[in-house]
Parts: sequence; structure tokens; C-alpha cells
Amino acid sequence: MKVTEKQLKARVTELNLGILKETTFGIKVDRGNKGYICSLVYRDQAPPELLLEEGSASEASACIEAVAATHRIFRQSMMGGVEKPEFLTDELFVKKGGERCPRTKCGSRDIIAGWVEKESDGLVQTHRCGKCGLEYTIRYKMEGYDISLHAESSDK
Ligand SMILES: [Zn+2]
Repeated sequence: MKVTEKQLKARVTELNLGILKETTFGIKVDRGNKGYICSLVYRDQAPPELLLEEGSASEASACIEAVAATHRIFRQSMMGGVEKPEFLTDELFVKKGGERCPRTKCGSRDIIAGWVEKESDGLVQTHRCGKCGLEYTIRYKMEGYDISLHAESSDK
């Protein structure tokens, strides 16, 4: 498939406004006398970095796609770190019913619970994950009590 200059420029614009938008650089493609020139243009004052000189349209296209692919991989690994913190937030932990290990990579239900203990601001219960060995304490708030009807009737 033949790539036209128009297609190259459109692709560059798409990337610069898309996945490269939050980066410190953009891609630039120019058609020189002897062929295509591809460069990385930094948004700060850093000088542009020449990636390809006197290339054919398909070489220019490959060059642009390589930058896009590299960035995509880089971003995924970065986002992986951001999206998945090592431990669950309180909110997520509670949402999951507190039944799973709060280490996100583990999430095991194989939990060994300790005694419920009283602390100044509530109740705490130490837990230990049977899979990854993480030790953590769940904090509880006491809300009141209910009489167990079953227990009451068995007394009589
Ligand atoms: Zn665990």
C-alpha cells in the first residue's frame, strides 16, 4: 500500500493530539527534497531529535508507528503502576466486603482472622493472608447490638 504525504501528516496529527498529547514530545514529518524527514519535537526548548532522513513514505510511516508503539508500551507500564496500586484503598476494601487480601496482586480469600480487640476509636481485628502472608488490621465501628432470638429462646 502506498502511503501519501497527506496520510502521513494526518497520522502524525492524530498521534500528537491523541496518545502523545500528554507527553513532552510530538512527532513531526516533513517532506524534504530527497525524501521524508521524521523527527521528535519536544514541547520544551530541547532541540528536535532526527529519527529519519531522506526516507521513503513507507519508511516514514514505519518510523511514526514505531514511536507510537513504543509510547503505547511505555504508557501501559506506567498506567499499570498508576491504576493498580499495591494495596486496595479503604473504599475498595469495604466494597469487596473485607473478605479478600487487600494486596491487589493477591486478593486471596484464604484469610486467617485474629481476635477482635478494642481500641480507643473502635474495634480492630488483625488478619493474615494465608497466601501472601500480608498482615493487616481491619477497623470496625460499633453500631449497636441485636438480641439473637435463637439464643433467647434456647435459654428457656
Ligand atoms: Zn494476600
